[in-house]
Amino acid sequence: MAYPGGVKALDGVSLAIEEGELLAIVGPSGSGKSTLLNIMGTLDRPTSGTVEIDGHDVATLSDRRLSALRGRRLGFVFQQFHLTDGLTATENVATGLLYAGVPRRQRQPLAREALARVGLARRAGHLPHQLSGGERQRVAIARALVNRPALVLADEPTGALDTANGRAVLELLTTLNAEGTTIAIITHDRDIAQRLPRRVEILDGRLVADTLALRTDTSTDTPGEPRP
Ligand code: ADP
Repeated sequence: MAYPGGVKALDGVSLAIEEGELLAIVGPSGSGKSTLLNIMGTLDRPTSGTVEIDGHDVATLSDRRLSALRGRRLGFVFQQFHLTDGLTATENVATGLLYAGVPRRQRQPLAREALARVGLARRAGHLPHQLSGGERQRVAIARALVNRPALVLADEPTGALDTANGRAVLELLTTLNAEGTTIAIITHDRDIAQRLPRRVEILDGRLVADTLALRTDTSTDTPGEPRP
């Protein structure tokens, strides 16, 4: 991925995420994480290379089909929550269904169900300013989940939270993954990355480490066989 002016923000990156994974994409500031997130999230098109979601090469889709795919198959969580102030928690979560073609009648019950999954059933009628930072992020997570997306992309999801709330949000994401949601957490925080089953490291636009590769290596090492 090259930006105008010749900055190569990503170079030769190849990454496959399987259903059911929970991974960290970790790297220092400026390493290319946001660029990768934008490309994986179909918010930006790469200068070269391909992006496939659910087997669809996104470059072949019209803008309309691409936004439908994004609305139905991807969920986004941002550091600053991005909730709408005048809307209740339920209404904020329901906005996640707007672009997925879900009839109005079904949006509120689905939103309430998603809020229950993140432990906020009793805050459904609250406005964002009546919620703590940790609760706001849980509302944002519910909004990302409400479509049952193929992949949730979480960009520094604990970055605006204190340690305790950050830990709780990370635990929630881990639980949701155990229930079957595929989640990629983009972070510069190595402590967070260490807690996740797979870590992909980006440095200067290159993928420099992927613990999945390590796992594959050890699994070919059949126990009991004599080593040379
Ligand atoms: P990170 O999210 O890891 O901090 P970014 O993906 O934002 O990294 O940036 C990677 C590189 O690309 C940096 O050198 C940054 O300055 C550059 N970059 C990011 N966005 C743009 C843009 N829109 N135009 C030009 N250069 C950019």
